[in-house]
Amino acid sequence: MYIFELRSPKKRKMKAKYLERRGFTNPKQVKTGKYAFHFEVEVDDSDLKKTIRRCKRRKLSYFYYDKQFARATNYRRRFFDAYNPPYRCQYCHKKLNENTVIVDHLIPVDLAKKSPKVQRLIINSGLDGVNDVMNLVPSCPKCNLKKGNKMGIWYIRGKLGYSRLYWFIRGLVRLVFAAAILLLLASVLNFFLNI
Ligand SMILES: [Zn+2]
Repeated sequence: MYIFELRSPKKRKMKAKYLERRGFTNPKQVKTGKYAFHFEVEVDDSDLKKTIRRCKRRKLSYFYYDKQFARATNYRRRFFDAYNPPYRCQYCHKKLNENTVIVDHLIPVDLAKKSPKVQRLIINSGLDGVNDVMNLVPSCPKCNLKKGNKMGIWYIRGKLGYSRLYWFIRGLVRLVFAAAILLLLASVLNFFLNI
């Protein structure tokens, strides 16, 4: 199954009916900005070439990807079914509850849709698509906003977030650092008091 994203460079106010009349079944309008939108249609593997030809004939701009790389509508439910509270942000370890947790795609959907390299990573990681529960992690709103569609260091942090040892070492390093600052402050204070 493939998802086709369709836009019409000519007909800016294209309606679903326009596409239906031209053989696209069940087009769904998807808002992408205040005024921007595109349509999405699901296409069987056997209809792929036919659909590409149809898009070209109608001069529609199109972009398609395997459905396993599309955002599922029920991914939040899947996450809550698979993981019980309490939750901790995968990236900063902040405590979260069911109301404050954001379910984040560790490998972002946007990259999964567009990048063949990321698609290979998903397949090679043994994930059943981008909405596999192993790719869904708890995140606080702040980290989620900062992460956006990034991979790189965020992917590494997300992977490390599974390890208790990582959080233990991280906590220890912070504690040592805080102690060092306190000692420094104390010695500075001591120096001035002794003048
Ligand atoms: Zn966080």
